[in-house]
Amino acid sequence: MAVRLVMMGAPGAGKGTQAERVAREHGVPRVSTGDILREAVQAGSPLGKAAKAVMASGALVSDDVVIGIVRDRLARPDAAKGFVLDGFPRTVAQAEALDESLDHAAPLVVVDIEVPTEVLVSRLSSRRICAPGATVCEKCGGKLVQRPDDTADVVRERLRVYERDTQPLVEFYRRRETFRAVDGDQTPEGVARDIAAAIASVLGAKR
Ligand code: ADP
Repeated sequence: MAVRLVMMGAPGAGKGTQAERVAREHGVPRVSTGDILREAVQAGSPLGKAAKAVMASGALVSDDVVIGIVRDRLARPDAAKGFVLDGFPRTVAQAEALDESLDHAAPLVVVDIEVPTEVLVSRLSSRRICAPGATVCEKCGGKLVQRPDDTADVVRERLRVYERDTQPLVEFYRRRETFRAVDGDQTPEGVARDIAAAIASVLGAKR
């Protein structure tokens, strides 16, 4: 069965890494609204120009804009079999729009990666991403820099926005039979194992 997955987790929970892995294992695209928006900012497109200041402040881009981005992306042929959503939905309104845009051919699996707040803060403020800049990336030899929104002030704001806008969404999904929470305060391999088991338990139960 095709996997349709929403990967949830606070900033720093590791959802990007885990979403990438699940997408690869299931042969479906990972759709990251954060990546799509960052690419638009880099390209200087009208979308990027509109999103740049909002993202730099740690606030959320408007529901209409991200809903449009995801609708277009999921309409592409490679997403017909399934997808892993990373960073979307982030509000209840976005989740409702997603529900409306999906048929019932496969369940929507929702996995929430749970990590204590103090662990998130220390992970984010020490995170470095690969880009032209400072030290060198062990994986590709490229340069590593801090993501512009990973500075202490903006991290605090992103966590505040998460608590306010996205935590209610976790409660919205938690009531569903297709929701699973996993412990994100363990090694990436441990988290991956628990996510694989969570997905299997949802799809197995639905078969
Ligand atoms: P993180 O989960 O680490 O905060 P992302 O890469 O998912 O980072 O998102 C970075 C920024 O992009 C967010 O702080 C927000 O401004 C914007 N963004 C990404 N996805 C959404 C979304 N679904 N709704 C609104 N804004 C979004």
